[in-house]
Amino acid sequence: HPRLRLFDLPLDVIDLSDTLTLLGAWLADPARTPHTVVTLNPEIIVQSRGHPEFAQAVQDADLITADGVGIVYAAKQLRQQDVPRAPGFDIVKGLMERHGAGLRVFFLGAKPGVAEAAAQHAARDYGVGVAGIHHGYFGPEEDERVAQLVAASGANLLLTAMGAGRQEVFNQQWRGVLGVPVMIGCGGVVDVLAG
Ligand code: UDP
Repeated sequence: HPRLRLFDLPLDVIDLSDTLTLLGAWLADPARTPHTVVTLNPEIIVQSRGHPEFAQAVQDADLITADGVGIVYAAKQLRQQDVPRAPGFDIVKGLMERHGAGLRVFFLGAKPGVAEAAAQHAARDYGVGVAGIHHGYFGPEEDERVAQLVAASGANLLLTAMGAGRQEVFNQQWRGVLGVPVMIGCGGVVDVLAG
């Protein structure tokens, strides 16, 4: 798929179905090569401007999809490109529908109790395996401990929901320790799954 630049950030021209196929290939790779996914939205564009680490984490992500119509509209107006949407929620739901018990999901982020509820609902509705759960309120001094917890869990899908910026930087900075084939910074998705 082609990649374009929008407000100094990369954006992949890829729809939901092709995104799910690509992530499926990453999940199936026996080498378990770590990959990071960013679902680009206007908040990321604005917040990453004054935050070089955040901008770099987006720059270095393996896949950057258009989360919503704001990005689709900007790509059309500024780059004359038709970019399909592949929203974070649809990606996560699609992966769970396609892979079910083939997923071992680590739910990282949100307030204590929220990731637990998300995990329960995902297991009930899609039959996914739950590799681990951790809330999203810890300081940088605990990053390594949490990254090692995720690594030891054997997860093949990491949903990181710690707010825009923190979640993308965490996934990118610790990708080598995390070692999870598919890691998605997915903000409110965990809250939505929690219901
Ligand atoms: N969150 C978190 N740790 C933080 C900040 C936020 O786990 O330090 C969680 C928050 O509980 C929510 C999600 O991240 O589940 C998105 O938070 P918010 O909407 O405040 O962040 P945004 O993405 O809008 O910056």
